[in-house]
Amino acid sequence: MTDRKAPPAFHVMAKPSGAACNLNCAYCFFLEKEKLYPGSDLRMSRAVLEEYLSQYTRGQRVPEATVAWQGGEPTLMGLDFFRQAVALAGAYALPGMRVAHTMQTNGTLLDDTWCEFLRENEFLVGLSMDGPRELHDAYRLDKGGRGTFARVMRAARLMQQHGVDFNILCTVHAANAGHPLEVYRFFRDELGAEWIQFIPIVERINYDGTTLLQQGDKVTDRSVDPTQWGDFLIAIFDEWVRRDVGAMFVNYFEAAAASWVGAGAAMCITGETCGNALALEHNGDLYTCDHFVEPDYLLGNIMETPMLELVASDRMRRFGEDKRDTLPRYCRECPVLFACHGECPKNRFTRTPDGEAGLNYICAGYRAFFAHIDPAMRIMADLLKKGRYADGIMGILAERDAALRKAYSHAGRNDPCPCGSGRKYKHCHGRG
Ligand code: SF4
Ligand code: SF4
Repeated sequence: MTDRKAPPAFHVMAKPSGAACNLNCAYCFFLEKEKLYPGSDLRMSRAVLEEYLSQYTRGQRVPEATVAWQGGEPTLMGLDFFRQAVALAGAYALPGMRVAHTMQTNGTLLDDTWCEFLRENEFLVGLSMDGPRELHDAYRLDKGGRGTFARVMRAARLMQQHGVDFNILCTVHAANAGHPLEVYRFFRDELGAEWIQFIPIVERINYDGTTLLQQGDKVTDRSVDPTQWGDFLIAIFDEWVRRDVGAMFVNYFEAAAASWVGAGAAMCITGETCGNALALEHNGDLYTCDHFVEPDYLLGNIMETPMLELVASDRMRRFGEDKRDTLPRYCRECPVLFACHGECPKNRFTRTPDGEAGLNYICAGYRAFFAHIDPAMRIMADLLKKGRYADGIMGILAERDAALRKAYSHAGRNDPCPCGSGRKYKHCHGRG
């Protein structure tokens, strides 16, 4: 099956249980999506599963296809569904094609049998966790209103015992955004995680008071504050760049490094265009993106129209190109456009300083973050271009920090601050 206009590869987030979940996380943008399918059992049938895997694997013109499951909570489908999925994906894969499997889960239903299955089939699992207990339990509650921290920790330990490969997906919101190092150090030192994806929570309040659609220019109290978002990333970056480069992997830092060396976008949100990360609902409905599972962004149903035709459609192309073509001038002239590209269109609902619509709600955070990391990113990019490892940055910064400490110890209160800020020492690093 080919379509000349289809990209050689595309990514699909499949939701076998739709929006159904066994938890009730306060900020979940997906729980309300149940309203899109009234009366549905929210379970992917064998027929849709088979059609999806057949069309998806045969639609990839690259040597590896990644079958990605998420929700709602995908483990609600039960293990047999995934046994079938793995078998079908293998059966439909083109000769020589490797099929990789991923799953995003809240972890609460995982047990030994699940972990054995995930390990055997080399799943990469994304475990949702928001930090240590009091920060995680702020919003990640079950249907009885109880915190889920202990159950998620148990899942992490089980996966470690069984050798399951997993990343942390940590949403950043009003409750944990003010505790960046507590969050980061918890994942690194207590959990033993090496890969962390941070995801800012920006929940728009719709005109009817719900958060079902990407509509409205007000956000919930749970949403991350733009300045706090930048400060959160900066605090973690400053620790990471001095001690963890090459040992810990943070999505924003890896993506930034790729942008600074000119290697292209490592995440869709930092890419110039969208259009390569679709979402499949339990009944075969295909949407332009996981964040736009709403009627205006429904491309069609793969049981009626071939998936490749939908992926190659003008509507899909327009959705992708709109990310670039609707940028306000403020972004087009922004010094860090190459690394940010206006971030995700779902968050573009505020105005620029001169009043143009379409600015990203968390722009201030990104501007501050990308400006802050620029010097270190330039050094890392330079190391990489010379064929050296990026972790060489840690030695370079250690020497600079030592030199600065020495300069601080000799600075007079009214001298310019040795850090180069242009302020007097007493108003900068000599404060207090
Ligand atoms: S809309 Fe946002 S999440 Fe979806 S593909 Fe575009 S940048 Fe990525
Ligand atoms: S930092 Fe702000 S102005 Fe710059 S590209 Fe990103 S959203 Fe636009």
